[in-house]
Amino acid sequence: MQRIVILGSGESGTGAAILAKRMGFDVFVSDKSPIKAAYKATLTELAIPFEEGEHSMDLILNADEIIKSPGIPEKTDVMKAIRAKGIPVIGEIELGFRYTKNARIVAITGSNGKTTTTNLTYHLFRAAGVNAFMGGNVGDSYAALVAEALEQPDQHRTYILEVSSFQLDDIDTFQPDIAMLLNITPDHLDRYDYQMINYVRSKFRITKNQTATQLLITNANDPEIQGHLAQNPGIVRARMEAVSTADIQGSTVTVQGQRFDLSGTRLKGPHNMFNAACAIRAALECGIAPNDITAGLASFTPPPHRLELVTQKAGITWINDSKATNVDSVFYALQAVDTPIVWIAGGTDKGNDYTPLYDLVRNRVKALVCMGLDNEKLKTVFASYGFPIVEAKSASEAVEKAQELAQSGDTVLLSPACASFDLFKNYEDRGDQFRVEVLKINQ
Ligand code: ADP
Repeated sequence: MQRIVILGSGESGTGAAILAKRMGFDVFVSDKSPIKAAYKATLTELAIPFEEGEHSMDLILNADEIIKSPGIPEKTDVMKAIRAKGIPVIGEIELGFRYTKNARIVAITGSNGKTTTTNLTYHLFRAAGVNAFMGGNVGDSYAALVAEALEQPDQHRTYILEVSSFQLDDIDTFQPDIAMLLNITPDHLDRYDYQMINYVRSKFRITKNQTATQLLITNANDPEIQGHLAQNPGIVRARMEAVSTADIQGSTVTVQGQRFDLSGTRLKGPHNMFNAACAIRAALECGIAPNDITAGLASFTPPPHRLELVTQKAGITWINDSKATNVDSVFYALQAVDTPIVWIAGGTDKGNDYTPLYDLVRNRVKALVCMGLDNEKLKTVFASYGFPIVEAKSASEAVEKAQELAQSGDTVLLSPACASFDLFKNYEDRGDQFRVEVLKINQ
């Protein structure tokens, strides 16, 4: 029996274990960190042996194939030993694809907007009655969905998958029917030898196995994408269509000659018009009727923590954009708000360059609340802008100070440009605490 060893047992690793076991392999799971109770329970229930808190090389290096979770970098000792021995390594997305049958795949990548666009695409398909499933880097792992599908082989499925660059690094034959490459801006460069080109190549892997009958939806105005295409003619074999700013007029988007009015929807800001255009294009490609798309757009609620409207009280609008953990996403958030802004920012700075924000901050921001353990950089960068800058060391303090600074007609925007780990568990915790505090003072 072939032995498959799975490194890492989060959502992705556990999903891979479920599928590998279902396919009859001798499966072993190894995680250097503690495994969450729910995943341990799944492994135990399926009688899959596992270890946590260590990697036992003798139990790993006898594998016929390794499935690596996306969070594990190549520079770890365990990966170096595996590579030195020449054991084949794939990721969970590749494993899922290997056993996918009777299905269509829509795969979505990009530096920003993946989760929103994946959710929206899924919603449009479901609202139109398509048997769609959402997974990958959001929600359930793809491999677990595929394992589940094996029990209903006659049912045709559509998988709507969010795929990160780390996941793309470990694919081999994965071939989506529709791929989306939304945008590419610097992120995660520590995993790419600090070379932007490596990150760009990783993102382009989403289309590497596509053929001329398949579709790549991309961005006509993204300099990294367009630059890479210009320098590498012929790298895309799929039919390629690029959504452009010309297709978006305010909150009307035109896709394949059809106009969709998004003014009554919960999607706000030019970046979300772009995301919607991509999702609509995928829906049209799969034969979903424009009327059904319009109905789906109207009933869509964007995922929380992304320009999420918390409340409007006493003329002040409160927005939670806690997921904005890099400068680029803050750029789009500031652009999406057309009132004076009390901006709550800060946290763990990942080496941010704030230059792209200067004009927007000058024109729109009326006060800055720095919410972090160390706020020196933010304070220094924006010291000369002439607006009040105050500090807060918790969500409640930040909300209290923002309330003091805001007047009727203003928007208080939490859009941090930074990771959250200095004061919070993660970006969800930061956004949740913000929401609770905002609702507390606005009862
Ligand atoms: P991801 O899953 O790629 O991190 P999300 O949908 O979670 O993307 O959004 C992350 C952040 O990026 C949010 O702050 C959101 O407002 C912003 N954003 C969403 N779509 C885009 C886009 N197309 N371009 C730039 N920023 C975007």
